Amino acid sequence: MALDAPTTPSSFFSPWPDRLRHSAIILLAAALSLSVLVALDELSPIRAAVVFACIAAAALVPWRLHGAVTSREDVRLGNPVEAAAVNAIVAGMPDPAVLLDRAGRVIHLNAAAAQLAPALRKNELAQFALRSPEIITALREAIATTEPRRATYLDHVPVDRWMELIITPVPVPTTFGGTDKCMLMTFHDQTPLRRVEEMRADFVANASHELRTPLAALSGFIDTLQGPAKEDTKARERFLAIMHTQATRMARLIDDLLSLSRVELSAHVRPDTMVDIVPIIRQVADGLEPLARERQVVVEIDLPEGPVAIAGDREELLRVFENLIENALKYGASGGRIIVSLTSGLSSDGTPELRVMVRDFGPGIAPEHLPRLTERFYRVDVGDSRAQGGTGLGLSLVKHILNRHRGRLLIESVPKNGAAFTACFPQPKSASLA
Ligand code: ADP
Repeated sequence: MALDAPTTPSSFFSPWPDRLRHSAIILLAAALSLSVLVALDELSPIRAAVVFACIAAAALVPWRLHGAVTSREDVRLGNPVEAAAVNAIVAGMPDPAVLLDRAGRVIHLNAAAAQLAPALRKNELAQFALRSPEIITALREAIATTEPRRATYLDHVPVDRWMELIITPVPVPTTFGGTDKCMLMTFHDQTPLRRVEEMRADFVANASHELRTPLAALSGFIDTLQGPAKEDTKARERFLAIMHTQATRMARLIDDLLSLSRVELSAHVRPDTMVDIVPIIRQVADGLEPLARERQVVVEIDLPEGPVAIAGDREELLRVFENLIENALKYGASGGRIIVSLTSGLSSDGTPELRVMVRDFGPGIAPEHLPRLTERFYRVDVGDSRAQGGTGLGLSLVKHILNRHRGRLLIESVPKNGAAFTACFPQPKSASLA
C-alpha cells in the first residue's frame, strides 16, 4: 500500500509571505527617511545606523517568531490536527470512532473503539490492528481514492455481532490554518436491525404458511365437490362442515393478525380510561361456558364482590382474558377444572399490582417451552393447536396488550401438574379488593 509523502512546510521566501513584505517596506521606508535626515545633517550617520538597527529588529522579530512557529509545523506533521477539539469530538461519539491521517495512521480513537479493537494504537497504522479482511479492503480503497467506503462484517468477539464500518473523508482544520484530509472510521452494531429483519421475514413466512394451509384444504374440497362427490349428499355435508371450520380458522387468523398490528401501533399510548375488570372477567367466563361444558371442565371463579378499577382498554382486556381462559379450557381440559382469581400483590420492584390468574390442572408445559410461548406462531404441539382451532398468536397478543397497559404476563407450570398464566396490571392507588 502506498503511503503518502509528508507535505513540505512552505519555504521562507516562496511564496513571498505578507509579513515579510511588510517588514521589507518598513525597512525601506526607514532607510530612506534616515538617509534624508543624514543628508540634511539633522542626524549623525552613527545615530542613524543605531536607529535603523532598532527599526530593523522591530520589523524582523515578528517574522523570526513566525519562523519559530513555522519550524513547529514540522512537529505538526506528526499530529497535524487541532488535537484537543478533534479529540473531544471523536471521544464524544457514541459509536466506536477512529480518526486516521491520510496514510491510515491513528490520530485519535474513542473508548468504544479501543474496546472494539484493543490492538489500535495512536500513531500506528490501523490496518495492522484490524483483522477483518472487509475492513482492510475498505480502508485500502478509502486511502487510495479518498472516497467514502462502507463494509459490513461479522465480528466474533466477545459475541457474534453484525457490524457496519463507515469510512468518511473529513477535512480537519490544522493548528496553523488550512485543513488536512483525514478519515473518520465509525462502527455501528447492526445486529438488532438484522434480528428485526429476520423476525419480519419469519413472520411473513409463518403467516402465509398458516393461511395457505386452510386455503389449500378449501380449494381441495371445492374440487372434490365439483367433481367426484358432486352427487354424494352425505360427503357434501361432511366436506362443507370441514370447509366451514377451515374458513373460520382463516378468519380467526386474520382477526388475530389485525389485532396484533393494532395493538403494536398503539403500544406507546397507555390506556387512560378507568374500567372495572371484574365484570369483564365474568363476561368472558360466561361466554366460554358452552366450551367448558363441552370439555367437561368446571370453572371456579374467585373474584371480589366490589368493583376493581384499572386504567385499561375494555376490548383489549376482553381479548386477554378470552385467550387465557380459552387456552386453559383447550389445553388443560384433562385436569377437569380451572380457577380464575383476582388478587393483589407486589411486583419485583415493590410496586403494587393486580393479578388475574388463570390456573388449570392439565398436562402443563415443559420448562424449555415457557420462554418462547409468547413468540408469534410458537406452539408446543402445532398439530394439537391446529386441531383446537388455534393460530399460535393468542399469547403474543396477550403479551402486547399487557405491555401497552404497562403490565406483564407471568407463566408458571409444572409438567403433569397444570399451568398458571397470570396477567399483572399496575394497581392504581384508588383500586381496592373488597
Ligand atoms: P394457540 O392459538 O396455539 O392456542 P397461543 O399463543 O394462545 O396459541 O398458545 C401458544 C401455545 O402455548 C399453544 O399452542 C399451547 O401449546 C401452549 N399453551 C397455551 N396455554 C396452555 C395451557 N394452559 N396448557 C398447556 N399449554 C398451553
